[in-house]
Amino acid sequence: MRIGCPKEIKTHEYRVGLTPESTAELVRHGHSVQIETGAGAGIGAEDMAYEDAGATIAPDAQTVFAEAEMIVKVKEPQAAERAMLRSGQILYTYLHLAADPDQTRELVESGASCVAYETVTGPGGGLPLLKPMSQVAGRMAVQAGATALEKVHGGRGVLLGGVPGVAPGRVVIVGGGVVGFNAAQMAVGLGAEVTVLDRSAEVLERIDHHYNGRIRTLYSTGTVLAEAVAAADLVIGAVLIPGAAAPKLVTREMLRSMAPGSVVVDVAIDQGGCFATSRPTTHDQPTFTEEGIVHYCVANMPGGVARTSTYALNNATLPHALALADHGLPVALTREPHLRAGLNVHAGQVTYRAVAEDLGYAY
Ligand code: NAD
Repeated sequence: MRIGCPKEIKTHEYRVGLTPESTAELVRHGHSVQIETGAGAGIGAEDMAYEDAGATIAPDAQTVFAEAEMIVKVKEPQAAERAMLRSGQILYTYLHLAADPDQTRELVESGASCVAYETVTGPGGGLPLLKPMSQVAGRMAVQAGATALEKVHGGRGVLLGGVPGVAPGRVVIVGGGVVGFNAAQMAVGLGAEVTVLDRSAEVLERIDHHYNGRIRTLYSTGTVLAEAVAAADLVIGAVLIPGAAAPKLVTREMLRSMAPGSVVVDVAIDQGGCFATSRPTTHDQPTFTEEGIVHYCVANMPGGVARTSTYALNNATLPHALALADHGLPVALTREPHLRAGLNVHAGQVTYRAVAEDLGYAY
């Protein structure tokens, strides 16, 4: 199959759909891969690395879209990219269509077959193509919070690990799923005092078992959360209710009970955020202060560590990219129901129930 990978054009998106290593794997399977010049620059992968992997370099996105049978990307196609899609072409990328009627309409009109990373399922349940980005965001949350706690960044001047003779910082993580688990791992690694709250007994049990008493686990009720937040130096918001906006669990009153200069990192901001005071920020200006509390609310945290994120994403996306390329769309989807769950748009139809229902398409 002819596979194309254009340079991402969404503002501040430095990730790329294919690494040189993934490219080499596709080439080894007998496929031809074309990469837009400079596509890998944001992760330090120069054109030559892709050529060494067996790819050809295209001068522009038009060439890539015109020649490829399958386009592999990271972010949803922007308007200029959607205009270049054509009937029968496969698009394999993140789409997040339910919140984006314009994109959905143009993908339907294009006639392309669009497989969305975020709805591909896994044999053990869950969404394996979203998981790596949650792992990255969870680990980054502690790094971001630790930096924001420094005086020069508006924080109260607390070192999360403390030092001998001085107590460590207190980290409270709300939601112990993928983000929360990974945040906990980093916070423990730094030597902080860590508390995780969740509403799932199973999640609390898993964390308790894994950390063998090193982390305090609490069932999350309003009262318990208010007490934990009041005592925290850093609160990380990592809740998710699938398919719904994040619940505003941490109220303005709760924030007022925290010591000035404490920090909140709202990882759930991409679903609206779980702090009443949150609003989305960008890597350019990641924090703001409200009620004396430093807020870090970057909606695309993984973009800040584009190299790690691209490799983590490719580890999850490559097996399905190979299946699509080796067998073609119909056979690949028939053989692999989990990949079939990723098909959101096909031949002028919305083929993912939740998107069709939300946006009023026949299903
Ligand atoms: P997940 O489903 O693995 O975990 C969410 C956890 O929240 C679950 O354990 C659930 O039991 C818990 N929860 C739900 N309601 C709760 C409540 N009222 N109190 C306490 N816990 C509650 O999800 P995840 O992969 O960890 O993702 C968490 C959030 O982070 C999502 O909103 C996701 O979109 C977001 N995210 C953001 C970025 C970013 O760049 N900002 C990157 C990746 C993920």
